[in-house]
Amino acid sequence: MTGLKELWELQGLDEVEANLERQLKRIPELKELRVLKGDIEERQEKYRELKEELADVKKRLKKEEDVITATRMKIEKASSELYSGEINTAKELETAEKNINGMKETLANHEDEALGFMDMIETAEEEIKQAASELNDMKERFAQLSGVYKSKKENLAKELARTVEYRDQLKGAVPPELFERYRKLSGKFQDGKPLAVLEKGVCSGCHMGVSFDLLKKAKTDSHNLRCDNCGRMLFVE
Ligand SMILES: [Zn+2]
Repeated sequence: MTGLKELWELQGLDEVEANLERQLKRIPELKELRVLKGDIEERQEKYRELKEELADVKKRLKKEEDVITATRMKIEKASSELYSGEINTAKELETAEKNINGMKETLANHEDEALGFMDMIETAEEEIKQAASELNDMKERFAQLSGVYKSKKENLAKELARTVEYRDQLKGAVPPELFERYRKLSGKFQDGKPLAVLEKGVCSGCHMGVSFDLLKKAKTDSHNLRCDNCGRMLFVE
């Protein structure tokens, strides 16, 4: 056993491992989850604002209603005084009627104001209902997406752990000096792969045919073969 076969498999696993790590960092649901989280926070803020606005309008309506009640009582009192016999002169009657008419006008204004607030409350309640329903949909979507994300992440992490474990096993089967040579050479190649397969006289690293001498050597002794074009270590399957 030369360890070349294991080294070849190990080199392939490096790519698998790197690919899994890349996938772990780029699980598509994560990006969507982040965007959704921002949207939910924004919507929650809007929801809180709507609730505050509603509470404010309700307070203003209550004030108007108090004024309306008080004004109605005043009008009633003034009207009953009008016919109580306490008013004797035409001048007094005119003043009292003027006073009642003025209060009636005030009452009408406050009633208009109150109606306006009631409309606002109706609209705000509708908006709040809508916002709550949208918020609920978004939260459901978030929970669903998180589930998908977590399971994808778990599966990838498990696969990565298995790959690393297998890689370590393979490394254990490669003679240390061979591995050291491989490791030193790996930095010299752009793809980090210093080991290639020699198949039908062609190096799988540079895709060039190797020399006749090398082919002859490969037939008798397949150890320590190096491609005479690219310098990669060669492995004959
Ligand atoms: Zn080569």
